[in-house]
Amino acid sequence: MKKIGRRLALKFIDILGADSFLTEPEDTSCYSFDASGLQFVPAAVALPSDSLQVRKMVRLCNEEGIPVIPRGAGSGTTGGSLPSTGGVVVSLTRMNRIRSIDPVELSCVVEPGVVTGILQREVEKRGLFYPPDPASLAFCTIGGNVNTCAGGARAVKYGVTRDYVRALKIVLSDGEEITVGTSTAKGVVGYDLRHLFVGAEGTLGIVTEITLRLLPLPEAVGTVAAVFLSTQQAIDSITGLFESNILPRCAEFLDGLSLSCIADLLPFEPGDEAQAFILIEVDGPTDAVISQLEDVDKSLYDNGALQIYRPKTGNDSARLWTARRKLSPSIKKLGFEKKISEDICVPRARLSSMLTFLDDVQRVYPVTIITFGHAGDGNLHVNLLFNTRDLRSGTEIEEVITQIMKKTVAMGGTISGEHGVGLSKRAFLEIELSPRMVELHKQIKDVFDPKNILNPHKIF
Ligand SMILES: Cc1cc2nc3c(=O)[nH]c(=O)nc-3n(C[C@H](O)[C@H](O)[C@H](O)COP(=O)(O)OP(=O)(O)OC[C@H]3O[C@@H](n4cnc5c(N)ncnc54)[C@H](O)[C@@H]3O)c2cc1C
Repeated sequence: MKKIGRRLALKFIDILGADSFLTEPEDTSCYSFDASGLQFVPAAVALPSDSLQVRKMVRLCNEEGIPVIPRGAGSGTTGGSLPSTGGVVVSLTRMNRIRSIDPVELSCVVEPGVVTGILQREVEKRGLFYPPDPASLAFCTIGGNVNTCAGGARAVKYGVTRDYVRALKIVLSDGEEITVGTSTAKGVVGYDLRHLFVGAEGTLGIVTEITLRLLPLPEAVGTVAAVFLSTQQAIDSITGLFESNILPRCAEFLDGLSLSCIADLLPFEPGDEAQAFILIEVDGPTDAVISQLEDVDKSLYDNGALQIYRPKTGNDSARLWTARRKLSPSIKKLGFEKKISEDICVPRARLSSMLTFLDDVQRVYPVTIITFGHAGDGNLHVNLLFNTRDLRSGTEIEEVITQIMKKTVAMGGTISGEHGVGLSKRAFLEIELSPRMVELHKQIKDVFDPKNILNPHKIF
């Protein structure tokens, strides 16, 4: 890998300006980690403020054979934004303008660095709705969401980021900018390259502008939380909703250990007996929400809910969601040295068997497994907690992950529902994708990035 010597640094500074090209370790180290726990310090960090700067600097990197690693907020959980083979990290956070919100076309045009939660608030002021809501929405960016195809709690009813991307402007590895997709509601000319770029984890191009589909803001939202004596009952109560023809907009599940991490943040006392927690949301016209809430209550009681909590104010409802969003960082309080987060997704009907399997795993291996997630989608965040000193071999954790992933795929599921592959799941890719599929991926990569400068060593 080439180092960024003085001659090259001056060329980057010429494109970006001196305050937007960082090479001092105290600056670059701030871009050396994400939420995966991995760390790689970049040789330099570029902070472009427009797509022309992105184009010029990518062209320069292509000429010089320097890896380019796009980065949003660095909240990814798989090391996707880390410079594992060196190179320049391109932080898109200064490209954070909302260019337009169009209530007739039901769309908006944004730069990649716009924070998801800020976009949601802005469109809501116009009576519009951008549904994808990763739990990291207070800090993650739309560019990162597009490149991981982020999901979130509302995916159960509204789908994931992919379902909202109409068009993308992309800077390719030679510095040329193209548009994929159309700003119109429909468009079927040529291959669907737009969806090839969604979830591509920055390996095919740098996204510099995004046209997103919006929806009208639902008139009313109803929230219900419930606790159960067992995870089985909690999962049955979620699948029971679908059996009763109720399509919740969110159906979140927390196991007993997860509940213990956030119990003090909840607006109600879950009680000592509670071994599982679910959080359900429905939306629509006010009358429909009232009747759906009654159906939800019935389904939860039918499946043995110990206690059902209906927030009376918006503030109580917000407290439930704040507690849910704080769960991931709250796990630290359990005091384990290491946490590895997996993000499997199985058919809803297999959720219970998967939880039983995870229980069996933690009986055999020196790990504690804490599981929560968007169970309405079959998407479970399986967190392996352990202390290195307890492991019986250097490969024991890999063995555990391999078993979980093999079981997931055998159940008809996928090894990542929403976090992507990045670096940390690379080694497990072929559990899900056949050799022919991996080869096709490599051929596609070669078409778009023949010199392999765009986020190399990620996915495969
Ligand atoms: C507490 C917590 C909760 C989370 N909850 C969820 C959740 O509910 N659902 C979910 O899906 N994820 C969740 N995540 C994971 C993470 O927030 C998402 O993956 C998010 O989409 C990453 O956005 P980011 O801006 O941080 O991107 P980064 O982490 O910076 O980058 C992610 C990937 O996108 C690429 N990339 C970023 N911007 C661009 C661009 N403009 N062009 C090309 N490539 C680019 C990077 O190279 C990298 O491969 C959570 C993370 C945390 C820490």
